[in-house]
Amino acid sequence: MDGTSPDFTPHGKHLIAGDWVAGETRFTSEPAHGPAHDYSVGTPDLVDRACRAAEDAFWTYGYTTREQRAVFLGKIADEIEARGAAITAIGTSETGLPEARLEGERGRTTGQLRLFASHIRKGDYLDIRHDQALPDRQPLARPELFMMQRPIGPVAVFGASNFPLAFSTAGGDTAAALAAGCPVVVKGHSAHPGTGEIVAEAIHAAIVACDMPAGVFSLIQGGKRDVGQALVQHPLIKAVGFTGSLGGGRALFDLCAQRPEPIPFFGELGSVNPMFILEQASSARGEEIGTGWAGSLTMGAGQFCTNPGIAVVAKGAAGDAFVKSAAAALQDVAPQKMLTDGIAAAYRDGKARFDARNAVRPVLTTDPEGRMATPNLYETDAENYLRDQSLGEEVFGPLGLVVRVSDRAEMEHLARGFEGQLTATIQMDGGDAEDARRLLPILERKAGRLLVNGFPTGVEVADTMVHGGPYPASTNFGATSVGTLSIRRFLRPVCYQNVPADVLPGDLA
Ligand code: NAP
Repeated sequence: MDGTSPDFTPHGKHLIAGDWVAGETRFTSEPAHGPAHDYSVGTPDLVDRACRAAEDAFWTYGYTTREQRAVFLGKIADEIEARGAAITAIGTSETGLPEARLEGERGRTTGQLRLFASHIRKGDYLDIRHDQALPDRQPLARPELFMMQRPIGPVAVFGASNFPLAFSTAGGDTAAALAAGCPVVVKGHSAHPGTGEIVAEAIHAAIVACDMPAGVFSLIQGGKRDVGQALVQHPLIKAVGFTGSLGGGRALFDLCAQRPEPIPFFGELGSVNPMFILEQASSARGEEIGTGWAGSLTMGAGQFCTNPGIAVVAKGAAGDAFVKSAAAALQDVAPQKMLTDGIAAAYRDGKARFDARNAVRPVLTTDPEGRMATPNLYETDAENYLRDQSLGEEVFGPLGLVVRVSDRAEMEHLARGFEGQLTATIQMDGGDAEDARRLLPILERKAGRLLVNGFPTGVEVADTMVHGGPYPASTNFGATSVGTLSIRRFLRPVCYQNVPADVLPGDLA
């Protein structure tokens, strides 16, 4: 626990361009523990007000210097830290996540904000290009050309339930958009409205301290689906950053595509993150890999988009040892509280889907109750897996499926059959290099991040990180939602032809 005060009682209002606004109707939060609170339900009218203010703010904020925005991002991080204990208290109450996890996530959130501050100070992200004028070129002279990335305008952000800080109100999407020079309108996640409110309070304090336009940030609480729909359809919104489920993401993505002016929808959706265990690794370390896999599969009650839900291993004794040790480790995992009643119900439904399949064999089955998750493990073979694509759909929670293959060729065939993924993992030893070289080009076409001899849970926030991948892992394979490259989502290249130096934007002059 840090030295700040843990006291915070949410007032339940929206933050619209600097004003705390109460709605006419309220919804009640469903915390994992502690008191429930009432929150204002968002409305399309409030969405309109926030988007108009964001557009007004863009004419100032979009033209601030990189240094001004870097100072602002740093100030948001400071204000979050100043409320550290209160954020942890309300966050743990709403989500059931342990204190240490919330504190770690807060560090990641402030770290992201500061990383973006230093990233924009360096300026490389502007990707400035210059073609000199060639007045004597024949048959045609060439004018002087500059190119630079510019912010796109107001951005809508939808946070995820499972990262109430790092992928939510002041999370990676918000940090990237603000760094780029784009005002942000956040649709608060109804699983953690109080955490959203206190983080919005921190952003508001930074706006005032840095004398930024009030419309640069708004938070509209949810409570009804029409808020999110109105937000992605608002004509002043120029892009959407979304982290959440495939169903929700696809619905909002389709709305963006159907707009009179379609806009990019950067949705980071679910994934089963397959892990391929090669022959030598399986013989030498099958048991150890089984234990490690079980740990990754159950971390945070399995509520990670990078949860490695599927393991692929050969039939035979070495593969059996992997399955046995994974099952033994899973058996020892105590029940864990899930983020919401809805997510817990979806987990039970996902398990029931597996139980109903003749093509899968239960290895370890448990009966999760209420909001508690307990691990489940199933096994099938490649033929059955490829025949029933629903086995490749994500079950959000600690459920694992082992797919047994006959040989290397079948493993490669299976790998080709996977849909787009956030990550793919290879477990290999020295003698597996030839097999790994054959598998890697297949997996490159499937996933945004490829790992060897590790587990995909735990995403480094770095310049090289790619948290994205081909659909359905994300709706835009050219983008990442983690790391500094994520700023590119909210920028647009503009070419300046023959523009005098004293008219060019500051970064080019
Ligand atoms: P979710 O149910 O899709 O909700 C995400 C946000 O979208 C919420 O604000 C929700 O509003 C809104 N929403 C969902 N469907 C909507 C619709 N049809 N119309 C309007 N708004 C809609 O996802 P979640 O429960 O937060 O997260 C769990 C899922 O997210 C898992 O599948 C997980 O794998 C995935 N996830 C992916 C990543 C990644 O980086 N790829 C990271 C974390 C989680 P309400 O608040 O009203 O529900």
